[in-house]
Amino acid sequence: MSRFWTDRIASLDPYVPGEQPQDKKYIKLNTNESPYPPSPKAIAAMQAEVGERLRLYPDPNGQMLKNALADAYGLQANQVFVGNGSDEVLALAFMGYFVGDKPLAFADITYSFYKVYANLYGITPNIIPLNDDFDIVPSDYDNLDVSGVVVTNPNAPTGKALPLSDIEHILNANQDVVVLVDEAYVDFGAQSAATLVNQYPNLLVVQTMSKSRALAGIRVGYALGHPDLIEGLERLKNSFNSYPIDRIALVGATAAVQDAEYLAEICDKTIATREWTVAELEKLGFVVLPSATNFVFVTHPERDAESLYLSLKEQGILVRYFGKKPRIGDYLRITIGTDEEMAALIAAL
Ligand SMILES: *Cc1c(COP(=O)(O)O)cnc(C)c1O
Repeated sequence: MSRFWTDRIASLDPYVPGEQPQDKKYIKLNTNESPYPPSPKAIAAMQAEVGERLRLYPDPNGQMLKNALADAYGLQANQVFVGNGSDEVLALAFMGYFVGDKPLAFADITYSFYKVYANLYGITPNIIPLNDDFDIVPSDYDNLDVSGVVVTNPNAPTGKALPLSDIEHILNANQDVVVLVDEAYVDFGAQSAATLVNQYPNLLVVQTMSKSRALAGIRVGYALGHPDLIEGLERLKNSFNSYPIDRIALVGATAAVQDAEYLAEICDKTIATREWTVAELEKLGFVVLPSATNFVFVTHPERDAESLYLSLKEQGILVRYFGKKPRIGDYLRITIGTDEEMAALIAAL
């Protein structure tokens, strides 16, 4: 608290990221980072970019990355927006499309940054609870009077995915507002709504390089949507920060997007390790929600989640515990690491 703080600063409720402790080396299963390195082609491209050219600003438009993403998703470059992590893309989308008199619809259990942005921009949340099985019920999104809808697919921290037909249901029921589908984890086993972009002018698909492409450290995210929606985001971005993607990130992200084979390889490995981990956790009596992501959301009928979290931490393994919150206070979210890391987790449990 400072006497210079305005009411606006004092009223904020900032996002709390998962721990990134610097004190000792943990097995980090708490922030859904990839246990694998980025594509070797991405690393080579970034290394080659370090040099004399760094005195120059990057391409403000990030065109090479937009072209690569457009190719990868079968779209045109003017249907692609790129930003400094998908968090920044979300921040701009919220500011641009969801500020208004009406509330914004999203689930009670979902990515906690949505509430933070809503608070930052004075957007009232219209919270739509997941059902008792932690599923999004598409018909709950019918007949809303909202500024927009945010759906996370697969959802976090539950890990559960919706089929595209359910996403289409929500899009059709909300044709006058933007429906943002946050697909941070889609490569680990869900269907992407990127294939619907040409059909639905109200659809904005947001993805990230941080999870499946193993590039959390360079901060690149993107949105796919109708050219008019994308142009709106460009107008905002160019009123805020014209160079969100630096030269190193630009070449690294572009090379990673062009290396589809490597993406498939590390996603397949993660999925195989996930299936092994689920079976082992179930043998230990955990209840594991079906996951289409690089994490599992688990609870144990006889063990307290907080003590498990603390005891694992003592043993050098970090998982995510969200505190004594309603509905998820008995759950842990565990990132899928390498086979060795997951064997260590099972042994510790
Ligand atoms: C990790 C995550 C993001 C943010 O990703 P960045 O691109 O690293 O900012 C956005 N949405 C969800 C649901 C996530 O889990």
